[in-house]
Parts: sequence; C-alpha cells; structure tokens
Amino acid sequence: MTESAIQNIEQSTASAPDYTSVFKDLQATFRSGRSRDLAWRDAQLAALERMMAEREAEITEALHQDLGKPPLESWTAEISYVGGDAAYCRKRLRRWSKPRKVHTPAIAQPGKSWMQPEPLGTVLIIGAWNYPLQLTLAGLAAAIAAGNCAVIKPSELAPATSALIAKLVPDYLDPDCIRVVEGGIPETSALLELPFDHILYTGNGVVARIVMAAAAKNLTPVTLELGGKSPCVVLPDANLETTARRIAWGKFSNAGQTCIAPDYILTDAATESKLVPLIGDAIRKMYGDDPQASDSYGQIVNERHFDRLSSLLGSGHVEIGGQSDREARYIAPTVLCGVARDSAVMQEEIFGPILPVVRSETLDESIDFIRDGDKPLAGYIFTKDSAAERRFIEEVSCGNTCINDTMMFMAVDELPFGGVGASGMGAYSGEHGFRTFSHMKAVMKRAWWPDLALRYAPYTEQKFKTLRRLR
Ligand code: NAD
Repeated sequence: MTESAIQNIEQSTASAPDYTSVFKDLQATFRSGRSRDLAWRDAQLAALERMMAEREAEITEALHQDLGKPPLESWTAEISYVGGDAAYCRKRLRRWSKPRKVHTPAIAQPGKSWMQPEPLGTVLIIGAWNYPLQLTLAGLAAAIAAGNCAVIKPSELAPATSALIAKLVPDYLDPDCIRVVEGGIPETSALLELPFDHILYTGNGVVARIVMAAAAKNLTPVTLELGGKSPCVVLPDANLETTARRIAWGKFSNAGQTCIAPDYILTDAATESKLVPLIGDAIRKMYGDDPQASDSYGQIVNERHFDRLSSLLGSGHVEIGGQSDREARYIAPTVLCGVARDSAVMQEEIFGPILPVVRSETLDESIDFIRDGDKPLAGYIFTKDSAAERRFIEEVSCGNTCINDTMMFMAVDELPFGGVGASGMGAYSGEHGFRTFSHMKAVMKRAWWPDLALRYAPYTEQKFKTLRRLR
C-alpha cells in the first residue's frame, strides 16, 4: 500500500464511527454456535427468499430511484437472482456441509480421514452500486449457507437501495448474527480496521488495494470481485444478426453499468461494416427511436459518472447514439467507430452505454491485443469455428468466458463467478460461495490399537526398510 493510501485510511478513521461493539456482539453469537446450526441457516435463507418475494415492489422502486432500473431488469438480475440463490443454497446446504471422506494410506492405518467444512466466523461483505441488492445479498446468502455471522455494507452510491436493505434485513434476518452498516469511505474504513474472518469486496481495483492492505493487517483473507475491459471478439463467420442483438443486450442493460458487460468489440473492417448497422437495429428494437423515453432503458448512477462517460464520447466518431442529458443522467446507447487503440475510451473500463469498435483483422491480432492488457473479468467471442473458439478459451485468461453470447453464464448456478489477475481473486455463486465462506478443515481420527512401533525412535535399519515399502 502506498503512503497516501495509508494516510487515506488513517485520516478517514479519525472521525469514523467505531463498530467494535457490533463486531464483538456478532463474534459472541458466532461462538455460541447459533449460526452454525443447519436449521438456523435453513431458516435464514428461507427468510431471505421470503424478503425478495414479499418486498418486490419496494425493492423495484428503490432500484428505480437509484439507477432508473427497469422492473424486468430489477427482477431478473437482483430480486429473483437473490431469491433463487438463497433457494439454491438452502436446498443443498445439508449436502455441502457434510464431512467429505478421503483415502487414508496404509502408513496411517488404522484410522480414517475427512474434510469438514467449518464456517469462518464473522465476515464482512462490501457491495458496489451497480447491482446494489444482488452484490450484497447474494454474498450474504453464501455466508449464511456456510454458517457465518456477517456485516453487510451496501454502496452509498445507491442510497435508496442501501436504506431499504438496512430497513428490511433486521425485519427478516436474525439481528444477532447479521447486521447492516450504511455509509461511505469513513464507515467502510472503520469496518476494515476490525479483524473479520473474511472480506468479500465488490468494486473497483483502486479501492480493492485499500481493502486488501487493511485486511493484511489482520491477516484477513479476501475475495475481490472487480471489473476490467471485457473484450468481445466477432469473427466474420458469426451469425451477425444474433451477435448484434446479444452484444447490444449485454452492453446496454443497466445502461452499460455491468461488470461483465462487453466493454468493446474487436473485429475486422468488413465485419464491422455489417455488424454496426445490425447493432443499430437491435437498439431500436429494444429501446425505440428515443431510448430516453423508453421504460426499458436505465440511468447513469450520478453526475460524476455522467461527466466521466461524456468525456469518452470524443474517442473515434459516434456512429450510433451519442445524445445525452445531464439532468436526466441519460446517455443514449452509443457505438463509436474508428476508435484508436490508445484513445481515452480504451484506457479504462467504460462502465456505461458506450461501445467502441476497435479494428482487428485476425484472431491472432485480437488475442495479442487482449493479452497486452489486464486480465478481464469476462471474455466473449462470436464464431462458428470451433478451432477459434478453443484458441480463445485457452489463450485468453479471464474470469468467465461465453461463446456466442454475453453475460449468460450468470444464469448457470454451478459455475463459479469471479475474476483473475486484475479482475479479482476468489469466486462465489452457489457451492463456490459456500466454499469461499468455509474452511475445509482436515480431520483425522486414529484407532487406539494397534500402535505400531515403526515411527518411534530408536530408528533401526529394519524400521527404515518397512517404512520405505509402505510409502
Ligand atoms: P462503489 O463506488 O459502490 O464502491 C464499492 C464499495 O467500496 C462501496 O461499498 C464503497 O463504500 C466502498 N469504498 C469506496 N471507496 C472506498 C475507500 N476509499 N475505502 C474503503 N471503501 C471504499 O463501486 P465502484 O468501485 O464504482 O464499482 C464499480 C466497479 O466494480 C467496476 O470496476 C465494476 O466492474 C466492478 N464490479 C465488479 C463486480 C463483480 O462481481 N466482479 C460487480 C459489480 C461491479
């Protein structure tokens, strides 16, 4: 951590509230064994499901206030996602929690050995603003399934959702085990001082470094769910109409503010000339001639992000969209062509409804370009060529890959969700979340008899020979 980052944390904690008593209370409950009980886990997950079902209208309203999120997107990516995740974990938590027997070699006989998942203790979940419900409560479902107590800290940049989470969680979930802390930098910094047993952080890489440095002081393990520039390679043999529709959906849902949205397209000149008009058709079909008037199109989260995104519109030339309205925090679904690889829009994760098309004449060139950058969170390729598909999977390191679509891996419960390198470390979702919040304790039980003399001194030539044979 840099000097300034250390100063940052120290300054912000000077006036920050103290959550030591919250932490100690949760720790005491954890030690009592309450959250470890499978019936408790089952009941909490059921309550989380119920909260999603009963409070759908309020949640939809809060997400609309924060992000202009269309109700269908709120339902699929937030409300039903969290409810479904809780239900999925609930159905399987007994199986996941069972000890897993492993082979005990001759040298260690008679005895038996197994791995026993145990909860980590009291964990901290820090969410980001773009899916403010999902990014706190899906993590919480995993933490509960694994038998932990938890503090959740929703993003202050989605204030309506944060306030609603703070109101609903104590009504539905056990307040002795699960607490919500609202706030921004001072509150998060104060929480980071505490010796949590695990931290799940979702957000950007700069803050991730602050989180990891603070965690290091307590040797707290971290799972970091970050972002990056997720590339989308389109080869000439792709079905371009479907490709255009699927890219437009992945890019412009939630107004592009999705960590796994395709960040930019890499394609050759001839394919670009056919693909871009098809993306224009897909945008019109989804959002009409005036996306600002569409109920299916979201808002930019705040003015700071609006200004940041507006400054990127000067890269290349606007082929589709480009209109904006600061007061309404609206930026039209936009496609930029003629984008140079060193232009501003290609320097950072866009995280908004701007889609640059970067020319790349061959798959080799595209793979080299992607590998020159940080490892992205998602990598997309559209092609009918299985050799190209194989090369992309093998040669492009990224958190998640989808062939011939965008973002759809999120619908698969059994796939882990997480980044690699700059896009994050660790993963969750379903059983992967259960494992993230568990320690696989190695256990061995030995029989009392016989107690062979082989391993005990005095070491003889004969003992040495026998041991070598047993190995
Ligand atoms: P954000 O501003 O909501 O910040 C995330 C969290 O960090 C918030 O809870 C915030 O309070 C806290 N925070 C901010 N500054 C802090 C500081 N100095 N010290 C301690 N805590 C601090 O969200 P963001 O960072 O703008 O999120 C966007 C990024 O997150 C993008 O890069 C996106 O790709 C990534 N993201 C990743 C995933 C994923 O699952 N991998 C999901 C969503 C977003």
